[in-house]
Amino acid sequence: MESGEWRIPVSEIFYSIQGEGKYAGNPSLFIRVGGCNLTCPGFGKRGCDSYYAVDKKYKSEWKNLSIEEIKKEIKKYLKFKPDLVITGGEPGLYFDRLYPLIEWFRGNITIETNATISPDFEKYPLYKKVAFAMSVKLSNSKEEYKKRVKKEIIKNIAKNAKRSFFKFVIDRYLKEEIDDITEGVDIPIYCMPLGSTKEELEKNAPFVFDFCLKNGYRYSDRLHIRLFGKKRGV
Ligand code: SF4
Repeated sequence: MESGEWRIPVSEIFYSIQGEGKYAGNPSLFIRVGGCNLTCPGFGKRGCDSYYAVDKKYKSEWKNLSIEEIKKEIKKYLKFKPDLVITGGEPGLYFDRLYPLIEWFRGNITIETNATISPDFEKYPLYKKVAFAMSVKLSNSKEEYKKRVKKEIIKNIAKNAKRSFFKFVIDRYLKEEIDDITEGVDIPIYCMPLGSTKEELEKNAPFVFDFCLKNGYRYSDRLHIRLFGKKRGV
């Protein structure tokens, strides 16, 4: 198949304010791809908080869009000069197919990833300009360690894409796990409270605040959960 014919399963495209991490507060256009290589059963009753972009039960809601169709959607919002945020699910499943978008978009791009799949930086050098928000899963995701932590991939992304950062979801003292994952990787570390509702978030926030202060990590809130709870497309 020619690359022009490639299609990407898209769960949703929406314009919002980035609510987490290094670029929190920036007007952003989100492209949420469908499908993930993990399941994170530890995150709430349904597992992952983006279950509708991961669970195959919701596959019929995903649209298989070509790059041209995705560009058409993005163009509607260019007047706002938004960041482009590619999230999921796991965008890494589609690094090859997403590349024309990376080449085309003139602005700040973040890819939110579980960092278990690396782009080929030699074949696709413009991935170096992307900020990878590496949300490496901790034991609270209840994924197996060898599935969720791929140290060579983390190092490769951090070495090539220098604007990248870590983003961890915390609900208890997980310092040793963070040390293990970030060892030898010198990029910013953000921690944010676990929770898929405002109440859960607020319950965990004071602990995470203190945890960041004592360990020199950056605190990130989760604005969209605080304002909208479980609502999608916001
Ligand atoms: S890695 Fe992220 S998208 Fe995938 S199942 Fe876990 S929380 Fe959900």
